[in-house]
Order: sequence, then structure tokens, then C-alpha cells
Amino acid sequence: MKLAMIGFGQAGGKIVDRFLEYDERTNSAIVRAAVAVNSAKADLMGLDRVPKENRVLIGQARVKGHGVGADNELGAEIAEEDIDEIQNAIDSIPTHEVDAFLIVAGMGGGTGSGGSPVLAKHLKRIYTIPVYGLGILPGTDEGGIYTLNAARSFQTFVREVDNLMVFDNDSWRQTGESVEGGYAKINEEIVRRFGVLFGAGEVGDDEEVAESVVDSSEIINTLSGGGVSTVGYASEGVELNNSSGLLSRFTGDDADHDLDGANTTNRITSLVRKAALGRLTLPCEIEGTERALLVLSGPSEYLNRKGIERGRKWLEEETGSMEVRGGDFPREVPEVSASVLLSGVTDVPRIKRLQQVAIEAQDNMDEIAAESNENLEELVDDDEDELEPLF
Ligand code: GDP
Repeated sequence: MKLAMIGFGQAGGKIVDRFLEYDERTNSAIVRAAVAVNSAKADLMGLDRVPKENRVLIGQARVKGHGVGADNELGAEIAEEDIDEIQNAIDSIPTHEVDAFLIVAGMGGGTGSGGSPVLAKHLKRIYTIPVYGLGILPGTDEGGIYTLNAARSFQTFVREVDNLMVFDNDSWRQTGESVEGGYAKINEEIVRRFGVLFGAGEVGDDEEVAESVVDSSEIINTLSGGGVSTVGYASEGVELNNSSGLLSRFTGDDADHDLDGANTTNRITSLVRKAALGRLTLPCEIEGTERALLVLSGPSEYLNRKGIERGRKWLEEETGSMEVRGGDFPREVPEVSASVLLSGVTDVPRIKRLQQVAIEAQDNMDEIAAESNENLEELVDDDEDELEPLF
């Protein structure tokens, strides 16, 4: 699947930069075009791979290149005011070669949190191809304002995109990591999970055509209908053996290079279970998922139709969905992996908690603002009102 990616804000720009690196490293060609939008000049300059001419600084008149300081209402305003500048960069994208837009943003900050929904609304008015969002939820330790920003942005962003894929920083944070080091690992995880998924619809001419290859229309159909999506992933290492094809580290049978069909099927079904029941990009109950897509990726010797069919059936039973698609994505890599895209999930306690904390933060902030006015008056005014201000 070929995407036009727009990284909005710092996190968004960094993640799109990682996607470009992933494309280069794995020869995936997912990112047909990349644009970064920010109100902070330094963040734009810090990117490695997004082409310089596709970096758009917005809100210069208002914030002079210094960012919006986690004020997402201001983020939304400047995106609205400078939408033409963003459009100019998008005009240079050959959109007829693109299957969809993907807007990537951290939802807890200001620029991306406020600006992404504005851009999504704009793109949907102009283009007929789908506009997807990849929204990053802040860690619960980031504090009230980030949670409030994320909760408000989430509500707005879901409404404006054709589907909002969510990644929750909170379920991926590791203790004892520096923030930057932690983000580097998290970003790697984001890119790997979504990379395998979007890469599935993009098998090159010189690559093997799979028995039941996933194409971009299957990804689009799984995402269509809107709502919120999450992605599960599990992989198992297998050994590549250059002289005689491929050998599994697990079957370990050097004498007989034929892979046992039953083993392959079992491996696939257990990977599908691990992917769907393990850590999802957004933790949720998978029962009630509206649509799902299963992508089995790895050397073609390790993929078989029976495994995929069994995995698909199992997903149907677990989710209760009648719309579970599935297929292969053959790749000459030393691992077999299962990616599960669960689209239209609704039982998501993490979002309910986020909203609860956001409401509490909002109430506290209103209270503190009211109190601080009173306290300031008390401090400034003399007790007996004997002093007169100058004017
Ligand atoms: P903006 O530039 O105003 O849009 O805000 P940022 O993108 O800097 O931050 C928004 C939120 O994104 C933060 O609260 C973090 O939760 C998250 N974030 C920031 N940097 C990264 C990153 O590199 N990776 C990930 N996964 N999340 C990040």
C-alpha cells in the first residue's frame, strides 16, 4: 500500500522519519511521499529523512517558530490559518499514485494534537482517497494537560478521519529508560507493526506472488467503516540458509529440507493467537471487533494456506466478526510473523480511563484558575484598601 504520510508535530515528524528509514532498510516502498508540519522550527530541523522542501513551518506570525507549548487549541487555530501552506507541500505529491493519506501525531501535545484533525477535515474535503490517522496516546505519567489534550484530540480526530489507528505509549513504556531512548524503541515498534501491515499490499514486481497475497484494497476495506483500530503482532525467528533455501531453527532438520506442513500450520495458528491476545498497540477487548485483517509474513516456505485459514477462523470466533480477511506477505527475512489489524474496536477501557482523568484534570484546572484569581487579588490588594493603583 502506498501512503502519503504527514507527520504533524514533533512525535509525528519523528515517526514519519522512522518510516522512511524502515522503507530504505527493508525495501518496502510504503511511503510514496512524506511531509512534516510543525510550529517549532527546531523540531523540523531535527528530522533526518523528510525532504527539506516538504517541511512546513506553520504559525510563524503567532508563535515565531517556537511551538505552541502543549496548547492544542492554538495548534488547531494555526493549522486552520496556515492550511494553504500545508496544501502547497501536499500539492507536490503525486496523489494519483497514492492509496491513502496517513496523518501521524502525538495526541498529548499541542501542534499535532490540535492540527491533525484540522488537516484531516481539509484533506477529506479535497481528495477522494481515504484519510487515516495514526494517533499516539501519551503515557499516564505525563500529567493532566497531556491527558486532557489527548482526550479532546481523540474525540475530534476519530470524527474527521476514515479510521484512527491508535498506539498507546503507556502500554509500551519501559521503566529505567531515558525518555529519548524510550521513544526510540517505541518508534521502532510502531514502524515495525504498521510497516509489515502496510507493506503487505505492496509486493514488488520481482518478488514472489503469494498464494493468497494481501493487496491494498483489503487493507482499505478492513479500515473502511471508520472508528478506531489497534494492531497485534507476533513473530518467531527462522533461519535463512543460503545454500539450500531455508531451514527452521525450530524444526532443525538439516537432513530433510522439506518443511513439515503440519508444523507450519501449527506455528502459524499459534502466532495468530499470540498476536491477537498479546500486547496490542491500543489495549482492548477484541470481542466485538467489527472487521479484522490477518497478514502472515515471512519466507514463502513457512506460509501455507491452511495455517492462514485456521488463523482466520480462530479470529472470527474470538472477535465475533464476520469480516475477517487474511493473506500472505512473502518476504525473505529470518522470521515468520503474524500481524492482526482489528478495526472498529469499541470495548476499550483505556480510552474510558483517559477520558475520566481528562475530566478530572479539566475540573482541577478550572478550580485552580478560579482560586488563583482570588489569591492574586488577596496578595495585591492591601487589607484596608488604603492604596490607590496609578491608573
Ligand atoms: P507537538 O510537537 O506539540 O505536537 O507535541 P509532541 O509531538 O512533542 O508531543 C506530543 C506527545 O507525543 C507527547 O506527550 C508524548 O506522549 C508523545 N511523543 C513525543 N515524542 C514522541 C516520540 O518520539 N515517539 C512517541 N511514540 N511518542 C512521542
